Amino acid sequence: CGIVGYVGPQPALEVVVNGLARLEYRGYDSAGIAVLSDGRLETEKRAGKLANLRAALDQAPRAADGIGIGHTRWATHGAPNDVNAHPHTDGDNRVAVIHNGIIENFAPLRLELEERGCKFTSETDTEVSAHLLSQELKAQGDTPDLAAAMRAVCRRLEGAFTLVAMSVDDPELVVAARRNSPLVVGRGEGENFLASDVAAFIAHTRDAIELGQDQVVELRRDSVTVTDYDGNPADVREFHVDWDA
Ligand code: GLU
Repeated sequence: CGIVGYVGPQPALEVVVNGLARLEYRGYDSAGIAVLSDGRLETEKRAGKLANLRAALDQAPRAADGIGIGHTRWATHGAPNDVNAHPHTDGDNRVAVIHNGIIENFAPLRLELEERGCKFTSETDTEVSAHLLSQELKAQGDTPDLAAAMRAVCRRLEGAFTLVAMSVDDPELVVAARRNSPLVVGRGEGENFLASDVAAFIAHTRDAIELGQDQVVELRRDSVTVTDYDGNPADVREFHVDWDA
C-alpha cells in the first residue's frame, strides 16, 4: 500500500517511519521497516496501526546506518498479521523486500523455490521476490549486484508491483522497480528518497522523478540511476512538487 525508502545522513529509521505516517491516509492493516544496523539487516513489523510499530521500535531501539525502507500493507495474500507484514527477507537475512501490488504468478514461483530448498515463513505473494533476489545474488558469486538481480527477478514476475529491496552486500544502496504500480524518487542534497507517493518525502525535498513502466532505480546518497529491465538507461519524468501533498 505505502512505500518509503531512504539513503542519506539523517537517522534512517525516523525518516522512514515519519514518511509512512504521511501515507497513513491511504489506509493499511500493518506496517514494517528494515534498516541496516552495524551492517546487519534488521526488520520490525507489526499488524495494526503505525503506533504498534513505533511501540515495538521503542522497546528495541537500534542505530540505523543511514539506509532504510518502510511499508504499510493492505493485505491481498495472507492474513493481516505480524508475520505477513512487510518487509520480507530470504532465509539468510541477506535481502529485505517491500512490495505494493500483486505478484500474479507467485504460486508456481513459490513451488519452484521450495523445490530448491527455500523455506517460506509467510503466506504472502511478496515473499517469492525476496528468495528470488537472494538466489540471483548467490548466482552472481563474489560481485553481487542488487540492481542486476532486481532486473532479472522483475523479468520473471507477472502482475502489478512496486518492489523495493536492500541488501547487506551494499550498505549504501536501495533498489526499486515498478510495473503497473506507482514509484517516485525525491532528490535531496547528499540524500535521496523514494516512495509510492510524494507525500512521504515533501518535508525533505520537492525535486522529484516519476519512474516509467518497467523501470529499475538505484538510489545512493549522491546518485539516482534509472534503467529498464534489461539494464539500458531509461527516460524519466522530472518534476517539481509545488502543491501541498
Ligand atoms: N500483495 C502483497 C501482500 O498481500 C502487498 C499488498 C500491498 O500492496 O500492501 O502482502
